[in-house]
Amino acid sequence: MSHGPICTRFAPSPTGYMHIGNLRTALYAHLLAKTTGGRFIVRIEDTDQVRLVEGAVDVILDTLRMTGLSYDEGPIVGGPNGPYVQSERKDIYRQYADQLVAKGYAYYCFCTQERLQEMHDENGIGGYDRHCRDLTPEEVQQHLDRGEPYVIRQKMPLSGTTTYYDEVFGEITMDNAEMQDQILLKSDGFPTYNFAHVVDDYLMQVTHVVRGSEYLTSTPKYVLLYDAFGWQRPHYVHLPLLMGRSDDGKISKLSKRHGAVSFQDLVNSGYLPEAIVNYIALLGWCPKDTNREMFTLDELRECFSIDAISKSPSVFDYEKLKWFNSEYIKQMDPARFAAAARQRLQDCTPAHVDLDKLIGLLQSRVATLDEVVEMSRFARERLPLDTELYTNKKNKTTPELCRTILEDVRPLLADCAVWENTALFELLKEYAAATERKAGAIMWAVRIAVARQGVTPGGATEVMEVLGKEEALGRIDLALEELNR
Ligand code: GLU
Repeated sequence: MSHGPICTRFAPSPTGYMHIGNLRTALYAHLLAKTTGGRFIVRIEDTDQVRLVEGAVDVILDTLRMTGLSYDEGPIVGGPNGPYVQSERKDIYRQYADQLVAKGYAYYCFCTQERLQEMHDENGIGGYDRHCRDLTPEEVQQHLDRGEPYVIRQKMPLSGTTTYYDEVFGEITMDNAEMQDQILLKSDGFPTYNFAHVVDDYLMQVTHVVRGSEYLTSTPKYVLLYDAFGWQRPHYVHLPLLMGRSDDGKISKLSKRHGAVSFQDLVNSGYLPEAIVNYIALLGWCPKDTNREMFTLDELRECFSIDAISKSPSVFDYEKLKWFNSEYIKQMDPARFAAAARQRLQDCTPAHVDLDKLIGLLQSRVATLDEVVEMSRFARERLPLDTELYTNKKNKTTPELCRTILEDVRPLLADCAVWENTALFELLKEYAAATERKAGAIMWAVRIAVARQGVTPGGATEVMEVLGKEEALGRIDLALEELNR
């Protein structure tokens, strides 16, 4: 399917953190516009003033900046269709709501909260009973003359069906009788989401509405608004649900109980924005004719397409994200990795540790930036050690053999003038040759003695270099003491 330039928008409500699902919506909307050289707009939907959270707009804009999802029009950058914050567009919605009233597709409703509540209590009716739908113009005027507050409601057709085509889910049809006469303009003059987004998408010339599938079944109401105004309907691209798997294997809508669900939380626990973007690009979209998984944002901008979006729910897999993250960390510019690791390590690492060398060992081994802290624990602390760790089948070592080796190499190491990996390595190799022992056995004995754990982010001599001469020798002394007990 080929398109002319597509115009999409990301229209978040500033109600808190940036959920991964929202970020995926922003990403897909951005990509869809960019694959066709079109426009990507950001619009802040803040008409539900009760749900606003201070600072949430900054979180949204920071996230877009950090992920590289640049936009052509929106807050800060401006553009020809502004303002891009709905609360600053109040007057616009009023005019359009009045137009609909004049055309007979909307009506003034003067029902009080008390009446609505009573109706609800008596009849158990959740919605609205269309009490004001057929007021005469004179009756409306009388209410207005009395200064009564009112809302404007959409006049839904009472019979028939409404159908629209969704690019992902196909044809969606709804019985008109099932649709409520929903509020378009509230009594405080603010529009509802239901109305404001339709007016804005039209005025901003949005060609493709990309959003979560929770809007799939309310969209018939929105297309009726387009029809009432005589506007061309946009294309709809509803995205599959995002699910999470809990420990018992059950799948449900992705939420906090599955793990971190906001972009900020993931970044704070050591995930890279580019890894997150790459992973979530594949949560609902599958590139055609390839098994490839690694995509930069630029590459995604080349190959993203609507027809490869899936309608089945996608499950957020934290392990898979970790895999992406470790790949991205490996490819990271070493200076950038060093800065991020240093930030996490410098306050907790003792002075004898060669931090640069340690960080150099970690880059290819951690899956998240936070893991640098746990993985370098051996350098900060002399961990409790079970002497059984000296036993190693492959290298044929036993605690006894390791004690002999450590006793032998202790003075050699003490005499070593250049405390550096290659020199230390040569020294131990020479000792192995001289005693006709396997180099692997020597390295095993020394590595366990100085690191005091089985799995280390480097070999024996790298670990010694990181620890510094004094600490490494101190640990060998401790090891000998333990082995002699
Ligand atoms: N403000 C709505 C939300 O955050 C946007 C839905 C849409 O994109 O139309 O869910």
